[in-house]
Amino acid sequence: MAKRALINIDYTIDFVNGALPAGEPAEKIEQKISALTEEFLANGDFVVLAIDLHRENDELHPETKLFPPHNLEGTKGRELFGSLNDLYKRNRDAENLYYMDKTRYSAFAGTDLDLKLRAREITELHLVGVCTDICVLHTAIDAYNRGYTIIIHKEAVASFNQKGHVWALDHFEHSLGAKII
Ligand code: ZN
Repeated sequence: MAKRALINIDYTIDFVNGALPAGEPAEKIEQKISALTEEFLANGDFVVLAIDLHRENDELHPETKLFPPHNLEGTKGRELFGSLNDLYKRNRDAENLYYMDKTRYSAFAGTDLDLKLRAREITELHLVGVCTDICVLHTAIDAYNRGYTIIIHKEAVASFNQKGHVWALDHFEHSLGAKII
């Protein structure tokens, strides 16, 4: 059986109801995202928390011109949202939990994620988090280009943009060969 990992993307206060909120659709996936995280952890699967990191007034970062400041280092807004944060605090020392900073939409861009996955011979990636059509999408595209099998949990991804959300789900399935469950 293929070894699998859960890639849990950007489910922070800022992205749910803070500085750059996806709002109600993101609030609604809280139980599902926590339940999946708990299940993967308990099963001994690799769980990655891939969390956007910014520094204030970073002129060299392309997002500075695109979005209001969000997920700034050391701020409350960068904490994981709701029950996922409690779950993280209880399991932060777990061997199969990896909390990583990312600075671009894709969890693969400029990070050691691919190395961590390959070291564990993981070939199947389960994606959850926000936003479906931005960070989840870019992570899925990089996963596709690296040859991973992709599973999208549709009740555990959300966006501020419903049209973008629907488009991305279609793209995952029909262009990236992902399984939508
Ligand atoms: Zn960002």
